[in-house]
Amino acid sequence: MPQQDQITNDKVVTFHYRLSTTTGEEIESSFGDEPLLYLQGAGQIVPGLEKAMMGKKKGDKFRAEVSPDEGYGEKSELKPMPVERSAFPEDAHLEVGMDFMAEMPDGNFMPLWISSIEGDTIMVDSNHPLAGETLFFDIEVLDIRDATEEELDHGHAHGPGGHHH
Ligand code: ZN
Repeated sequence: MPQQDQITNDKVVTFHYRLSTTTGEEIESSFGDEPLLYLQGAGQIVPGLEKAMMGKKKGDKFRAEVSPDEGYGEKSELKPMPVERSAFPEDAHLEVGMDFMAEMPDGNFMPLWISSIEGDTIMVDSNHPLAGETLFFDIEVLDIRDATEEELDHGHAHGPGGHHH
């Protein structure tokens, strides 16, 4: 039997994770919930975590420390900007921390995050909420399998916890 149980590029990995920052504050966790699925080597997860996953085996539990440049980037100098609520679709449910794609005057799209809401003024930030943070991922590898042709084609994992079509 070939070595099937190690994470290499083009493997689909099922895993649980807990994400926290240097303060120890938990940001997100999948433990007790549905695990996640991703395709190794496809850039579906932050680069630092993808690197740490390489070579791990089914059942492995470990902590990965990811610096901002291999996580959600350094914080840019740009300050949050005010946008009127009327600039959003009327039925949009706006929440702090929510992200959306904004069309720039040059026609390019850029991800923005809602940093605060003050009445009808929505403050939007070009920084990911975790930009500039060192990230700590507590990982448990639940399953590893070969990617299907279709998954390799699409560049992402399919199935529960992955992409649905
Ligand atoms: Zn797909």
